[in-house]
Amino acid sequence: AAAPDDFSQHTPMMAQYLRIKAEYPETLVFYRMGDFYEVFFDDARKANQLLDVTLTTRGQSAGAPVVMAGVPVHALEAYLAKLIKLGEAVAIAEQVGEVGASKGPVERKVVRVVTPGTVTDTELLADKQDSILLSVTAQGKTFGLAWLSLTQGQLGLGQCDERELGSWLARLSPAEVLVDRDKHPAAVLAARLPITNRPSWQFDAQLGLRKLCQQLSVASLQGFNAQELTAAHAAAAALLSYAEHTQGRALSHVKSLQVQRATDLLDLPPASQRNLELTQTLRGETSPTLLSLLDTCRTGMGSRALRHWLLHPPRDRAPAKARQEAIAELLTTGFEPLREALRQVSDVERIAARIALRQVRPRELAGLRATLQILPELAQTVPTGAPLLDELAQGLGASPHLAELLIRAIAEEPAVLLRDGGVIATGFDEQLDELRAIQNNCDAFLLDLETRERARTGISNLRVQFNKVHGFYIEVTTSGLDKVPLDYQRRQTLKNAERFITPELKTFEDKALSAQERALAREKLLFEAVIDQLTEELPTLARLARSLAALDVLAALAERAATLNWCRPDFVSHPCIDIQGGRHPVVEARLRETGGGEFMANDCRLDARTKLMVITGPNMGGKSTFMRQVALIALLSAIGSYVPATSCRLGPIDAIHTRIGAADDLANAQSTFMLEMTEAAAILHSASEQSLVLMDEIGRGTSTFDGLALAGAIATHLHDKCRAFTLFATHYFELTEFPAKHPQAVNMHVSAVESGEDIVFLHEIQPGPASRSYGVQVARLAGMPSPVVRQARAALEALEARASEGEIQIDLFAPPPEPAPSASAEVESPLLDALRDVDPDALSPREAHAMLYQLKSMA
Ligand code: ADP
Repeated sequence: AAAPDDFSQHTPMMAQYLRIKAEYPETLVFYRMGDFYEVFFDDARKANQLLDVTLTTRGQSAGAPVVMAGVPVHALEAYLAKLIKLGEAVAIAEQVGEVGASKGPVERKVVRVVTPGTVTDTELLADKQDSILLSVTAQGKTFGLAWLSLTQGQLGLGQCDERELGSWLARLSPAEVLVDRDKHPAAVLAARLPITNRPSWQFDAQLGLRKLCQQLSVASLQGFNAQELTAAHAAAAALLSYAEHTQGRALSHVKSLQVQRATDLLDLPPASQRNLELTQTLRGETSPTLLSLLDTCRTGMGSRALRHWLLHPPRDRAPAKARQEAIAELLTTGFEPLREALRQVSDVERIAARIALRQVRPRELAGLRATLQILPELAQTVPTGAPLLDELAQGLGASPHLAELLIRAIAEEPAVLLRDGGVIATGFDEQLDELRAIQNNCDAFLLDLETRERARTGISNLRVQFNKVHGFYIEVTTSGLDKVPLDYQRRQTLKNAERFITPELKTFEDKALSAQERALAREKLLFEAVIDQLTEELPTLARLARSLAALDVLAALAERAATLNWCRPDFVSHPCIDIQGGRHPVVEARLRETGGGEFMANDCRLDARTKLMVITGPNMGGKSTFMRQVALIALLSAIGSYVPATSCRLGPIDAIHTRIGAADDLANAQSTFMLEMTEAAAILHSASEQSLVLMDEIGRGTSTFDGLALAGAIATHLHDKCRAFTLFATHYFELTEFPAKHPQAVNMHVSAVESGEDIVFLHEIQPGPASRSYGVQVARLAGMPSPVVRQARAALEALEARASEGEIQIDLFAPPPEPAPSASAEVESPLLDALRDVDPDALSPREAHAMLYQLKSMA
């Protein structure tokens, strides 16, 4: 048999294809053949499945029929969009050689690889969401992360441990994740993100450091405080090679690096992002969510920045305060003129990236020009006074010669494609103008020739014309054929006419066609030169894009604050969450839209003395809504937004943890109860005194006594050990005894009144335990058959009577008995803890020696 890379038995064309395919074994290869991109063999079968394109076989190669499928060139974008959505990558092999330049097939080369994380085509990208390419690798127990937004030209680095990895993935929500093909971190698999395998050797820390320094043109990463992040360097090595590989060029515009430390951000674990419905509803829809309510941005750049703000709330209050001030200023001076001006702005951020990657289209440059032209006017609409606004307004001062260049160089309404010509403006280049003049003179010449030839031959309906296939010709209908002079040469015969050419016309044709070709070539050259000049200005454009995006978000937040009647939260340094008249913004908006009545505003007061609320009351009473609104108000404050309340004072907050039922993760195939306990355990491990914890109906997934016992123990841990701000909603009425024995806990309940057999929810949070749970009434409201309701009511009365006689007596909150010494698995010991943390494989001999001493010192 032939060696796998011996294609000599194939036709020359197939041999060329197979050589290319061998370089992209895991990628669909689109092989350009005239007006189609063809895919062959297994790729063709895949395309047939994914794109529903027809399979055919054509001819034979190496004795077997060639299975193929094709997509027309003009429909490429649509097919790419579909494949990217499905998480596929596509290598595009174009014809790069000249037809007939050598024997055999035209030379073809992969000019770019389009993957979910590296697309930059505006048509393929979601307008409101950034496409992030992430690379993850493990070094011992540390995970290194490196990510890239090609459209923003921004790199990021970070490191975390296994427990935090899920949060990072949720926050970054990458379009594509690069992992070592030999070890896939469990969290990446669990996050169900599109994965691309890369060889192990590409995750090399030293290579990564070198590549990063080279990319950022620096000698070391010290200045970024990133010199020591070796795990992240390893991830960056694979990231940068992959990104360059897909673009087929160096990434000249990627010049900024952001090092993210988990401690810089308010921790928003995936469960919180999901439960609070920040960017997606629990059902996976994009609306109604907090983001969909907030996002009245006028530009895609703004929408993307807002999403980023929401998922990256800083722990430091300074940025939030600066944003608050800007919003306050916009509210007093007016935000509408700014928002109106922003409507006319094009996506500078993405256009800049496409300039850098030399993929920019003529129309995009026209859009950029229009934006640059309105900048002075737009800057006028930015109020002065707030430092952040002043800084952003400065960012709008893009150099005027940029606009000038684009006005001079690019036609008023350029053609869609450069190859159609008509992209460079008249007057920009003398040579181009001359070449175009020859073409324009064409019409005059042809008219003149027609008149002269009619006179010379006496054929009155003789016509001089042009078509793409046959070039110039003189057409004479059958009736005039006998008058045709000798110097006419026949070009083509039609049914009722003949077409001729004369030496004069032939000379003109050569001149005109070559002028057209030369003009196109000249335009291409000039366009490239314009891009070269624009490339120099990329940092200015990036700053401009950032300023426009931030102004857009601030103006949108101001508009929301005004429209929805929100207030400016106050930051204080002592521990507290003090909200008056708080509302759940999304529930409130829905009630308003559906005419479902007024939203009942509620207060929430937590401080150093009151840290845990046990919230009881009937189902549907508003417990979840209340808890979520407190979390949303805390989050909105952290990003610098106004909040849905009449007043709000907040101490420092480092995390928002939520454990909320109902979101049964069926696809994860974990039992609901297991999931519930896993999430709760994660919270107990990481919540601190400055964390906000929401626990909704914990213990519901198991038997009553089990659940009650667990709920009691969890509340105790949160109260005694974590000391976190905790909202603890429960249907276990027994838990209302908790505050009696725990000084920092209080009882709260949602109110409801009975009217006859029915129940009316007031949705008001009031002090004290609920008097009863109204479960039977709720069931009645839900349309439960009346015999069932009657039987349940009777049974309930019997149970309540028994309880009041004291037959069920358990102390839920009694401390557990001391463990026996032999129950070694449960013994708490710093030494054992330290030992459990040791990863022998990650230690050098010297480190192992030091570790041994450390352990001995703890014994
Ligand atoms: P629970 O968690 O107690 O079962 P929810 O918080 O899910 O109750 O609230 C049930 C419904 O009641 C919500 O969908 C909402 O329509 C309404 N609701 C909740 N809180 C309020 C409120 N403060 N004002 C008005 N309606 C509310």
